[in-house]
Amino acid sequence: MAKLELEQFEDGAPSRFTLGNIHSIETMGTVDGPGMRFVVFVQGCPMRCAYCHNPDTWPARGGTSVSVESIVAAFENNRQFYRNGGITVTGGEPLLQPEFVADLFEQMHETPHGRVHTCLDSCGYAFTPEHPDRFARLLDATDLVLLDIKHADAEGHRKLTGRDPARILAFGDELARRGIKVVIRHVVVPGYTDSKEECEALGRLIAPWRNVVGLEMLPYHTMGIVKYEQLGIPYSLEGVPAMDKARMPELRAAVLRGMKAGRAEG
Ligand code: SF4
Repeated sequence: MAKLELEQFEDGAPSRFTLGNIHSIETMGTVDGPGMRFVVFVQGCPMRCAYCHNPDTWPARGGTSVSVESIVAAFENNRQFYRNGGITVTGGEPLLQPEFVADLFEQMHETPHGRVHTCLDSCGYAFTPEHPDRFARLLDATDLVLLDIKHADAEGHRKLTGRDPARILAFGDELARRGIKVVIRHVVVPGYTDSKEECEALGRLIAPWRNVVGLEMLPYHTMGIVKYEQLGIPYSLEGVPAMDKARMPELRAAVLRGMKAGRAEG
């Protein structure tokens, strides 16, 4: 893992594109999309997931303003590393800055050195179903979406994230309508999302989305707690143990079973 100092992006040169509000950049990302990836973490997130690893990305203010050109240039400096990967925008929540991410992804598709694979890692909550056109250009330029579904049940979702899932599910529907490849991500937290029933319900929930190409079940761990201590934010999962990884295969099987049942029922 290698982080880039954001100072190098603040050259003050005028940009043709919408500026991004960025938290950080990781040049050797291996967990946010296929292959080795250049990963841009945007600043600002409207969700409040109890287990969030990046609570420092929550406030919309306080990031660094960077240009699309400077990100493309930094990518090109290390292009040889990303032959089997590409670029990922994560956060924070990228859908809060659809114009910036659209400009960035369009440029990555059109670079003179060859098209770059683009991946959007999103919780979907900033999607506005009443104005899907706001996201049309971004989605046209997105090759893959990593979509986090935090909980299959609306009440459980509100408890775990502080937010209602309706807009997230509407975003999933929009991705399905467009046929954009999606990998579903689900964090498995003891006592919250680790029952077979919840996992089967998740499978049924995503069953109608025929564009789903992968499922990542992520066992909850407690390494993020230290950031909460540093920031002075109460940690609501205090005392919840790390997820037993040995249970992950059965829970993954439960999601797949739910998907199959959901599809069979049509
Ligand atoms: S959506 Fe992601 S960045 Fe936002 S609070 Fe949840 S885990 Fe954190």
